[in-house]
Amino acid sequence: EAELKFLLYLRDIVVEFDGFRALDIDAFGIFHNELRVIIGPNGAGKTTLCDIVSGKTDVTAGRVYFDGDDITAVSETDIAKRGVGRKFQTPTVFDSLTVYENMELALPGRQKVIPNLWSKETRDDRDRILTMLERVSLLQALHTPARYLSHGQRQWLEISMLIMARPKLLLVDEPAAGLTDEETALTAELLLELRGEHTIVVIEHDMEFVRQLDSRVTVLNEGKMLADGTMEKVQQDPQVIEAYLGR
Ligand code: ADP
Repeated sequence: EAELKFLLYLRDIVVEFDGFRALDIDAFGIFHNELRVIIGPNGAGKTTLCDIVSGKTDVTAGRVYFDGDDITAVSETDIAKRGVGRKFQTPTVFDSLTVYENMELALPGRQKVIPNLWSKETRDDRDRILTMLERVSLLQALHTPARYLSHGQRQWLEISMLIMARPKLLLVDEPAAGLTDEETALTAELLLELRGEHTIVVIEHDMEFVRQLDSRVTVLNEGKMLADGTMEKVQQDPQVIEAYLGR
C-alpha cells in the first residue's frame, strides 16, 4: 500500500476555492528521510499543497496520509502533534529572548506560558540544544538576544528550533528568500546535512539554491504536477520550460 510505503502520501487530491481549482493531484509521495524540493511559478499551488498537509486548508476531495494514518480530517493542531513541523518565510523567533532561550522554548512540551514551571530541562536537552546550535554556527551567539541576529542567522535559529521538536516531517517555505549568496550556500549545506535524519519538503523559488540542494524536484504548475526528477532532468522538460517562459 502506497500510504504505508511513504511517510506522506496524497491521493486524488482536489482543492477548490470558490470553484477555482488550485490543486489537482493524482498521487504524490514523500519517502522517509527524503529531501524533496517543490518548485513552480507563482500561483502553482505550492503553498496550498503544504497547507493541506499541515491541516491549514481542507481538501475538496481526496485523502492525505501521514505516517500510515489518514489525516485528511485531522485538525491543524493535532497534525502538528503527530510530527509535522512547518517553517514559514518570516522567522518566528522571539526577539527579546536570547538564542539559547528561544531553543529552550522549542523543546517538546515547552510551548507553555511559563515554561520553567512545567518541566525541568535535562542535560540531554542542553546537549541537544548546544549540538544543534554548533551545526548552524550559533554557539558564539548563545546569549545574544535574537533581535541582533542577521536574517540568515534567524532562519537557521528557526530551523534549529523546529528540529528540537523532532518532527517526522518538516515543511520549509522559501528558506533562501532574502539571504546573501554566502548565507544561501550555508542554508543548502544545513538542509543537506539534515537529509537522512529528517524528512524535509522545501518550497523554493531560487533556482541556484535548488541546484545546490541537489535533490529530487517536483514541478507544480496551475495546480498540477508537471514533472519530477533531478533538476537537470526537469529543467530540460519542454512542459517545464513552457510553464516558466509562458509567463
Ligand atoms: P504558490 O504557493 O505556488 O504561489 P498558492 O498555493 O499560494 O500558489 O496558490 C494557488 C492558487 O490558489 C492561486 O491562484 C491562489 O490565488 C489561489 N488561492 C490560494 N489560497 C486561496 C484562498 N484562500 N482563497 C482563494 N484562492 C486561493
